[in-house]
This record gives sequence, C-alpha cells and structure tokens, in this order.
Amino acid sequence: MKRQKSFESEGGVLYVVGTPIGNLGDLSERAKQVLAEVDLIACEDTRHTRKLLSHLGISKAMISYHEHNRLARLSLLLGRLQEGKSIALVSDAGMPGISDPGEELIHEAVQAGMPVIPVPGPNAALSALVASGLPPQPFLFIGFLPRNSKERMAELDKWKETPATLVFYEAPHRIRPMLKDVMEVLGDRKVALARELTKKHEEWMRDSLSACLRLLEEEKPRGEWTVVVEGAPVDGNRAENGRDVTWWQALTVREHVDWHIRRGKTKKEAIQATAAERSLPKREVYNEYHRETDQ
Ligand code: SAM
Repeated sequence: MKRQKSFESEGGVLYVVGTPIGNLGDLSERAKQVLAEVDLIACEDTRHTRKLLSHLGISKAMISYHEHNRLARLSLLLGRLQEGKSIALVSDAGMPGISDPGEELIHEAVQAGMPVIPVPGPNAALSALVASGLPPQPFLFIGFLPRNSKERMAELDKWKETPATLVFYEAPHRIRPMLKDVMEVLGDRKVALARELTKKHEEWMRDSLSACLRLLEEEKPRGEWTVVVEGAPVDGNRAENGRDVTWWQALTVREHVDWHIRRGKTKKEAIQATAAERSLPKREVYNEYHRETDQ
C-alpha cells in the first residue's frame, strides 16, 4: 500500500502539469504557480516550453524528456527527485502521459515511493468527448491508431463490440484513411470530429461517419483532430456470470438485419451476418426479414 497526502508532501515531488492545447488562456493559475516554484521542468521540447515560460515571465531550468530519450532520462530524473528536488513534467500540449511521454516516469516515481501530484489542465480527448453530443459515459480513450491500415483495422476490431463511446486522436493527413477504416470495421456510426479545439479555427462535424467522410473528400483536412465515435449498442456481447449473452437477443430478426445495414453492410451481407450469429439458415432469415418487412 502506497499512501500519499499530496498537500503534506515536501521536497522531491513530481508534478504532472497540464498545459494548453492551443489557447494560452487555458493554463491554470495553479499550473503557473507550480511551474514557477519547482526546481526543474521536464518537457518534450525545450524550445516549445521556453515559449510558454517566457509568455508567463518564468525563467527555469529545463530538461528534455521526449519520445526518444524518455527511457534514458528515467534514472537521472528519479535521482533528482530522490535528492529532494521538485520536478514539473509537461508535454508540448495537454496532459502528459496522454498520447505523450510521461507514463514511465510517473510509474517509476510511484514505484520509488515519490509523491506524484496531478495539476489538471486541458486535454483534447475529454474536451471533445464532453461537447460531442454522444454519451460521455462510459467512454474508452484509444488515442492514435496504428498508421498501417491492416494493423489499424485489427486494432479497431478489438473494440467493435465495446458498448462505450470511443475517442481517438489523428493527424490531419491520416484522418480520411483512418475514418474509412473506422467505418469499415465499426460500421456507419454517429461521430463527432473536433478540429483545432480552443483555437481560432475550432470546428466541429457531428453526423454519421459517411456524411463526415463525404465532406472531408471535398475539403483538405487541416489542423489537429480528435474523433469521438458512438459505441456499440449497450446490449452488445457481454459475459454475465461467466456465460456469454448474445447482444442481439432482444432484437427481432428484422431489427437484427437492420442493425447490420445501418453499420454499412448490404442487405445480402446483413442477412448472412444475422444468419451466422443466430446459427440459422440464410433462407430462413431472408424469409423472416421479408415477412416482417412486408407486414
Ligand atoms: N497530451 C495531449 C492531450 O492531453 O490531449 C495529446 C497529445 S497528442 C501527441 C496530440 C494529438 O491530440 C493531436 O494529433 C490531436 O489528435 C489531439 N489534439 C491535440 N490538440 C488538439 C486540438 N486543439 N484540437 C483537436 N485535437 C487536438
């Protein structure tokens, strides 16, 4: 058991400090105070953080802690904490550790019994989620998907039955292929695309994946994007008391086929998938679908 009374901590404290994702006005008073008071700032890019510090009128020792040296820096930073120095960990934007370096240092500091104190700040995922109009709970933050389409689809496949809103990050030049793969694997779900949050050109697209993709075919995507995707239906595959409960149990055959059609399958494919899931002959599903439809 490791207990921490944060406001009684002294000396070697690791502060995990959130910084703006675009709008400097989002930096909290507390973040400013911590950056001014610590002994050292560990940051992704010293040039980037120097700009933030000079905007705040703070001059402070900095050490780079980024994707490529984060493991090599661990013992040095831990050593400083153990000497009683306080360190603020920041990334270029948002919360450290969220698709940014931080995880290993935080883990090691916790393991070494050093106090780790969050100083909450802006975060693209939560900002996009809460304003998406999609259910904010439960949600699953996935971050960046693999760049390679095959690997990306394999990753998406893991989450296709998850009854939780899904949140992704993506770079502007990959947003179209990424959304195509999301639609291919998860179906034509509702989505909210948030671009340039907190900045002058902040923009939202809230519609089905297919409608957003059509618009993005016409306009070259620019800026930073966060993608919020509707989760699978709540009664998706779930294990109850160790027993598999089929997600479609509450649906009629027609509703089951329509569920697949709404997610991008043709009628023929939807009937095939329904037949496979219900272990029924395709002909029976076809007849039942048309019987219900024709009524
Ligand atoms: N640590 C950051 C956070 O807490 O949100 C995320 C850093 S990650 C390297 C950068 C990605 O976050 C971008 O590619 C984009 O997907 C998303 N992002 C960052 N700023 C954004 C913004 N202003 N608007 C929309 N998405 C943003």
